[in-house]
Amino acid sequence: MSEYKLASKQHPLHKSQVQVGDELVGGDELSIIAGPCAVESAEQLDEIAKGVASAGVRFIRGGAYKPRTSPYDFQGLGKEGLKLLREASNKYQLKVVTEVLGSFLIEEVYPYADVLQVGSRNMKNYQFLKELGRLDKPVLLKRGMSSSVKEWLLAAEYILLSGNENVVLCERGIRTFDTSSRNTMDIAAIPLVKELSHLPVIADPSQGTGKRSLIKPLSLAAIAAGADGLMIEVHNQPENALS
Ligand code: PEP
Ligand code: MN
Repeated sequence: MSEYKLASKQHPLHKSQVQVGDELVGGDELSIIAGPCAVESAEQLDEIAKGVASAGVRFIRGGAYKPRTSPYDFQGLGKEGLKLLREASNKYQLKVVTEVLGSFLIEEVYPYADVLQVGSRNMKNYQFLKELGRLDKPVLLKRGMSSSVKEWLLAAEYILLSGNENVVLCERGIRTFDTSSRNTMDIAAIPLVKELSHLPVIADPSQGTGKRSLIKPLSLAAIAAGADGLMIEVHNQPENALS
């Protein structure tokens, strides 16, 4: 038996597709999640939501509670941001993907989100993962920035083991010696997790590279490598973005 008992490709009880309302992640179509890094205002989100919806995107992303490296940076609008996401979702028929920073916020974020995002910094918060495993909403599990593929899959295993089968993995780049882009996109991890597990996997070249010119080539590379979708950060005024 492999270490990935529940996430293993051989496991009979698990499906390789995650249903988010009427949207399927891991099916024949790519799932594109687009939106700002952080929700900043009603005008900002409305403009972005309108743009992504008209491009055919079905999922909006946006942080209401942001895990910023510096406590002096914009921390997100909090509950107000969650409400704006829900409004955009209703207006443009978009599913909401937003980060939950920890157990203390599950209750608050749950009603506003269609997919609960676990950030890179929380991938190893195992008690938190167990709590998310007891919920009935899909979890998008980012890879820890310094985590191996094995650690990442075992983190997914925590959620599955607690009863939530609906886990989508997200490769978002790892830290390496090379700082020429923000992180190093581990494209090889995409087919590798597909070999080891049944879970759908998407790629986030925005956190992965931190560089606008690299988003398109890395998106194409991720899809060629077998990704089930993409998470892309977009902004109506990128030069003025708060994060
Ligand atoms: C984000 O999606 O904006 C984010 C903070 O992601 P990560 O946890 O991958 O850094
Ligand atoms: Mn971001």
